[in-house]
Amino acid sequence: MPRDVHRQSPPQETLPIRTPRRTPAAIIRARDIESAIDTERHAMALFDENARLVRANGLYNELLACANSPEMQTADPRERARIFDVRDMDGRRLPATRLPVLRALRGDALVGAVGVDLRVRALDGRELILHVTATALSTRSDRATGCVVVLHDMTEAQRLADVLQEIAGRVATLSQVVAVRNLERDVVFDAIADGVLLYDPSGRLLYVNSATRALLGIHDGGPGEAADRVAKQLDEYAQYDVEAGMPPRDAWPLARVLRGETVAGGDAADAIRRLPDGCEQVLNISAAPMYLEGRLAGAVLILRDVTERRRLEREAAEHAKQVEAIFEAMADGLVYYDAAGRVVRMNTATRRLLGYDALAARDVVVQRPWTEHPALRDTSGEHSSLEEWPLVRVLNGEIISSERAVDVRVWGPEGRLGMLAVSGAPIYDNEGRVILAVVSIRDVTEARRLDDERSQMMNTVSHELKTPLSVVAMAHGLIDKRAILGQPPSSDTIDVLADGIAQMTRLVNDLVDAARAETGQLAVKPVPQDLRLVCRTVVAEQMRAVERVITLREPSQPTLVDADTIRISQVLTNLLSNALKYSPPDRPVSVRLQRKKGVARVEVHDDGPGIPPESKPHLFERFYRVPGMKVLHGLSDGLGLGLYIARTLVELHGGKIDVESEERQGATFWFTLPLLSPSIG
Ligand code: ADP
Repeated sequence: MPRDVHRQSPPQETLPIRTPRRTPAAIIRARDIESAIDTERHAMALFDENARLVRANGLYNELLACANSPEMQTADPRERARIFDVRDMDGRRLPATRLPVLRALRGDALVGAVGVDLRVRALDGRELILHVTATALSTRSDRATGCVVVLHDMTEAQRLADVLQEIAGRVATLSQVVAVRNLERDVVFDAIADGVLLYDPSGRLLYVNSATRALLGIHDGGPGEAADRVAKQLDEYAQYDVEAGMPPRDAWPLARVLRGETVAGGDAADAIRRLPDGCEQVLNISAAPMYLEGRLAGAVLILRDVTERRRLEREAAEHAKQVEAIFEAMADGLVYYDAAGRVVRMNTATRRLLGYDALAARDVVVQRPWTEHPALRDTSGEHSSLEEWPLVRVLNGEIISSERAVDVRVWGPEGRLGMLAVSGAPIYDNEGRVILAVVSIRDVTEARRLDDERSQMMNTVSHELKTPLSVVAMAHGLIDKRAILGQPPSSDTIDVLADGIAQMTRLVNDLVDAARAETGQLAVKPVPQDLRLVCRTVVAEQMRAVERVITLREPSQPTLVDADTIRISQVLTNLLSNALKYSPPDRPVSVRLQRKKGVARVEVHDDGPGIPPESKPHLFERFYRVPGMKVLHGLSDGLGLGLYIARTLVELHGGKIDVESEERQGATFWFTLPLLSPSIG
């Protein structure tokens, strides 16, 4: 099994939690969230990734009566669950894995209707019923760095629902509605916070309780008058049913109930009333017929103010939409798999990374486990065994954190080879079975290429510096020995020392130039000049240095270009020293300067091994060296930076650089610079 496996502990154990590195962005975000929490109109608290309370607002502390309990700050989630005696709606203690904070941190979106209803005891002993929603926070897409928990106090609403149920039961059993004495009726119905309206079989409103009057804002007039006004108002409500448009009259709760139907649950209608202050009030109307000795004797209508509830539902729906938008807009791929390894959902980035188009993705959703994806291989290029696949490991209960993501090779739709880092986490049901695997896929092709390049660079640089360093050390040793004997250093030793230092200087200069080229900081200062002079100087210098014959051919008339003498000399020196370095010492090397179609063209030809065709496209890349290419003259292998720097410099002059080469027939490297007076010659 690979080392980087991180096993998910059994659900009852402490969850593996790590302290995140807080980036400045994360800190700013955390501050934003904290101040948002303080101004929030709901009881709300922020937890860190270890499920510890970071910040709670006043409403939260008030609701749970925990403002003066600093121990809450440090309590772990299990301890908090014990302190608040957290139970489900059936009164059973909630297992740790089902606690909303831990679920949110695992990635469950507990929003809107998916929130959790819980029974909780506040620290002052009040029994509360809470609808809890929770959302994970993440500075990176694949790992929760904390979560926000919102408590909706449903205690009162639940109590009313219980009372209403009881009253509705009583009304149904009343043998004679008309015979209910007013006093008794008022006592019974006025105790209910919901509006209660009683109708006779013809649809005439007989009675409204005080809650109805309060809900409809009717505060004056006797009961009879109030009933008339209520009837009128309710008539007007028909015009406000925004959801369904204006329903036909016979579809109204009262009409339906007088036909003997019961209007309750999902059938109950919402009526929307605009209040004098411009706000909307949403009243939910349910209704039931009342029978007396088998005959319809009237109807009871219940009005409930659901303004707040509908607002929360709308918010939850909007939140769900936002989450959906984030899911789709994420740069990383995110896939949900079912327990059988089939795709349940995948976002756009996944389709792009794995090369599915929207249509094919539908097939994947139902048919093909990811393990069979033909384009995916492990880093060695093999189809790895089923148990080693990240997805299968997650389905087996492992958490593969993003730090320990598994690298997987993928062949993209255009046949390009890429590298994906796959991490993921399982989601459990109540019984502790894995029901879903959430897998995150990050395109790390470029990052891995840079890693490779960096380690290759470190190897090359240290290897290349070693040779001149040991030469310098050796020369220093010799000088030291002679100094003890009172003798001056030999001129040979000084030459060796100077060579070693010059070589190191070249390497360091190349590194500095390459770094500047990479960041666009390599600058040239061109001045008009005759390129023939530059060529002559460089050729003479090189001939002196290596004691080899270099032939130079040049036009008879001046070849004027705008060029930075030092930098263009550097380019030619590099091409020339490569030609000398990679070709046999007994073979000639030639330089040719020509005027051609408005440009000055400098060619450096050698009779060396030439450039293999597969290396040509990479020759001018940073740190590229032709595999197996032997240095036939001189000490140094080189860093593979010379041509990269040469290309940058030539292009900064508005010129071009390239190579023509048949393998084993030598190479001709050339560059061009725009002529200043193209018409001459
Ligand atoms: P280096 O310092 O390694 O020479 P360069 O960028 O100048 O770096 O060259 C890159 C690579 O291109 C060399 O390592 C060598 O493999 C190849 N190369 C350059 N010039 C020649 C040439 N004239 N003949 C054959 N191979 C060459």
